[in-house]
Amino acid sequence: MAIIVQKYGGTSVGTLDRIRNVAARIKRTRDEGNQVIAVVSAMSGVTDGLLKMAREISENPTERELDVLVSTGEQQSIALVALALQEMGVDAVSVTGRQAGILTTGSHTRGRILNIDPSLMQAFLDQGKTLVVAGFQGITPDGMIHTLGRGGSDLTAIAVAAALKADVCQILTDVDGVYTCDPRIVKNARKLPEISYDEMLEMASSGSKVMQSRSVEFAKKFGVIFEVRSSLNDNPGTLVLEEHTSMENVVIRGVSIERSQARVTITGIPDAPGMSGRILGALGDAEINLDMIVSNIAHDGFARHSFTMHSSDLAKAQAALKPVITELSSNARIETDVGIAKLSAVGIGMRSHSGVAATMFKALGEVGINIGMISTSEIKIAVTVDETRIEDAARAVHDAFQLDKQPI
Ligand code: ADP
Ligand code: ASP
Ligand code: MG
Repeated sequence: MAIIVQKYGGTSVGTLDRIRNVAARIKRTRDEGNQVIAVVSAMSGVTDGLLKMAREISENPTERELDVLVSTGEQQSIALVALALQEMGVDAVSVTGRQAGILTTGSHTRGRILNIDPSLMQAFLDQGKTLVVAGFQGITPDGMIHTLGRGGSDLTAIAVAAALKADVCQILTDVDGVYTCDPRIVKNARKLPEISYDEMLEMASSGSKVMQSRSVEFAKKFGVIFEVRSSLNDNPGTLVLEEHTSMENVVIRGVSIERSQARVTITGIPDAPGMSGRILGALGDAEINLDMIVSNIAHDGFARHSFTMHSSDLAKAQAALKPVITELSSNARIETDVGIAKLSAVGIGMRSHSGVAATMFKALGEVGINIGMISTSEIKIAVTVDETRIEDAARAVHDAFQLDKQPI
């Protein structure tokens, strides 16, 4: 008997009818002779709704209580899926994060999985039961509830697959695979038959929310091969796995976009050792995740640093920077910009092909899109553009690399 982990996202369990569909699919997989562990998200909109209520009660809700609150979303859906399965005659049992033995560390709202003790899940499987496990939640060694960051049910599924040494791990969602770009934005985006962990990780962390980026990191670390596919049909999906040589023939695997970015520029910083450390240290202490960091060569003894971040962090960043800047120099100034989006082109083939940036920048220039900041890694080129033009930018770059066409 094969062990199959199937993760169902929020849209897939978004209504009672959809929950019945999910149950029917789990039953079918079971009837084919497999042991099934379904990992389930909260019904779509539930997590956001709970967060909204918390913010109505409290301007600054404590993260401990947020975790207690939002983890209830997944508890509703596991019970409902288990009940739907029982109605179909399947011996199903719901399993919370604590019962699944998901031990976490780190901070509330973004817990990291330390270890999984699968003994209770294993005992249920040995009794022939079908398991419905709550995504997104775990428990600290001292018994506090943690959640695993937005989209964290993906991480639960991958970690459970690793802990139970599952034969198959499927991420079932509302698209039938990973596409060359979000198919809601680029209509001729093409479904990829496979993608490497590193490419999936870069795409996920630059806006392709089809997978939570931390779940991809975990899958790479523990060698969990998984497939992203539709919960609504049986079309083959996209395999995510370690790269192999023929993957390098493709220069760009996909394009991602990320909206709501903000830029902070600090000018008039003395060109002296330790300055960047002080500035970044202040932002780090305030737990602000910086994305692009660009420093210009000093001019007249003064340097200029720019960073991008999510616009929701901007006020916090300004507050954290003010005292440091005042202390560093009376010439220092903070400038801010919002209405920025980021476009990233990702592919491991970039390592062995040249001229990639030129193609990308030329394509943007031809449609009259101005490039703000640029950053590169071994397998990614990212630029910022005006947010109002981000979709045109994605389509132009997608076309320039002919991503709609099957590579030869
Ligand atoms: P779930 O609720 O199942 O976790 P998500 O909403 O988190 O689903 O992820 C699926 C969505 O990801 C799709 O509806 C799609 O719009 C979006 N998406 C973004 N980038 C991509 C991509 N490159 N390929 C496929 N889907 C993508
Ligand atoms: N319900 C959580 C969220 O909305 C986790 C998930 O769906 O994966 O982020
Ligand atoms: Mg998701």
